[in-house]
Amino acid sequence: MLPLKLLAAMYGLLIGSFLNVIIHRVPREQSFVTPRSKCPKCSNLIKWYQNIPVFSYLVLRGKCANCKNPISIRYPLVELLIACIAILLFPDNLSLDAFVNYICLFSIACLFVAMFLIDVEFHLLPDKLNLALLIIILPYAFLTTSIANMALGFLIGFGGTYLITYLFYKLRGQIGLGGGDIKLFGVLGILLGPEGILQCIFFSALVGSVIGIILIASGKMNKNKPLAFGPYIIIVATVQIYFPKYFELINIYNLN
Ligand SMILES: [Zn+2]
Repeated sequence: MLPLKLLAAMYGLLIGSFLNVIIHRVPREQSFVTPRSKCPKCSNLIKWYQNIPVFSYLVLRGKCANCKNPISIRYPLVELLIACIAILLFPDNLSLDAFVNYICLFSIACLFVAMFLIDVEFHLLPDKLNLALLIIILPYAFLTTSIANMALGFLIGFGGTYLITYLFYKLRGQIGLGGGDIKLFGVLGILLGPEGILQCIFFSALVGSVIGIILIASGKMNKNKPLAFGPYIIIVATVQIYFPKYFELINIYNLN
């Protein structure tokens, strides 16, 4: 099993490296396939051997080989985090079912990391990433829950939060949730089902207001500026999907 976990770790490092490209380019509306990676400061093309996950960062001591400007520590950290997730989720006995489960859960985790970091930096949950999440969650939900659960979860996640946001806007003239948040709730509703998505909405609003109040009180955030809500949705959904024993009320997770 150890060689397989080592392989999973290396796969995680490579995927982490690719996620770094997505995190940088998708919110800037650049293609994540072409062109080759460049230093954002001096536009020097990064050679393949300067682009080896974690290793190149250490060899270059965190500086661009050309202009010596610092490279963000986020790059190796994302690569290491994704490698850890790849190992931690790796199943102990590898059947086809377990492997499919693993790929789905790992892909969802990767998208959560990308969406979290993009929303913190840009206050944006890109449609492309919500769509990618939908493409993974749809078949995974088919394997783990009923179609009625999926449909109701989506209806509450998307329709419910859309309606609340619309009413809030009509009554107060303020935009509560962004479109990206509403779409994320819709996609998550498909996997979490009606009860799960209600819990997700409730707890992310709770966590968001508590942290928001702390940030405003400590002067780290302006209360007139909109708050990035995606990270709180992602934190709560992560607990629901990966640590379900804390959310025992959700029926679909009690099946096994
Ligand atoms: Zn440079």
